Amino acid sequence: MEIQNLIYNISFSGNSYEIEFPEEYITEVQQENGVCQPLFAGSFLIKIYNMNFSCLKNITAILVDALDNLEDFNMEYDIEDLFSNFRDTIASYFLENITYDYCISSRDIELLSDLIAYQFYHAYKINKASDILPSVCEKIYQIQSFCIQIIEDKEYTPAIRSFIEETIIMLLYSFSNDSVIENYIIRSLEELFVIDVIQYMKAKTTLCQCKFCNKFFFKQKRNTEVYCPYPNVNKPYNKMSCREYHKKYPKYEDEISTKIMQAYKAQYKYIADKGLLSKNIFPLWFNELKKRERFARKEGSIKKLEDFINNTRFSKIGCDITDYSNY
Ligand SMILES: [Zn+2]
Repeated sequence: MEIQNLIYNISFSGNSYEIEFPEEYITEVQQENGVCQPLFAGSFLIKIYNMNFSCLKNITAILVDALDNLEDFNMEYDIEDLFSNFRDTIASYFLENITYDYCISSRDIELLSDLIAYQFYHAYKINKASDILPSVCEKIYQIQSFCIQIIEDKEYTPAIRSFIEETIIMLLYSFSNDSVIENYIIRSLEELFVIDVIQYMKAKTTLCQCKFCNKFFFKQKRNTEVYCPYPNVNKPYNKMSCREYHKKYPKYEDEISTKIMQAYKAQYKYIADKGLLSKNIFPLWFNELKKRERFARKEGSIKKLEDFINNTRFSKIGCDITDYSNY
């Protein structure tokens, strides 16, 4: 897909919506009998929440460097090429580093990579300068920070309100028999966020968080669902869903997830109490935590993860750290 022609179409009918993926992405999940399954409001908030965006900073720096070294800025083709490569680098990084395999399909990863790359491309085209790009990176982190807040607190903060008010989204109506369908054209991650957050806040759907894998899922029947329906690739679940595993071993508790949940709640509260939720502080730490979780599960040991959690408490190290790789 050429970056300048990138368009996604989201259409609404009733409480659910569909997103039109390019032909090449429609291969797997969410398709039953050849028909795309409708998505629930909040689906993309969960996906953005689960993504690890920590790679973006470095990939952006490489892009800025490449743009600055282009000899002739009028060479549209080269610029297009650079942004296409940038998009592919993001996608391959996401594909390699995602731990939430069953919440985010490779098709979703393609979508998020497209939208993120376009957001950078658009900012570059408007400003005609590469030094704007690091701030786009901050904006992506901010969107993730908003997703975390909306899922945790389910309320519009002043920062989220003004973000929504400043975003312009293209809407087209179409007719299907006698009913009118709303079609939103989206080209960036912020537009996807704004559409989904508004639908999510209007809808009465409730998200639950799984006690074994910490992933969010849509509540299905009972009131007290705490185990998700996603297959879990980690030990000891062996691709059983957390729900099935709990049914089979009701006394089992996941030590790593419990530790992560406690740390997450404490750090979130600290940042919320300081009024710093709209900054990029929490997502940066949280993305590193996801990475450390992956290592802990791979090694089958919680020790290094515990050290990381103890050594990176905001109450101990303050809120100015932007790189956690040395902890
Ligand atoms: Zn789970």
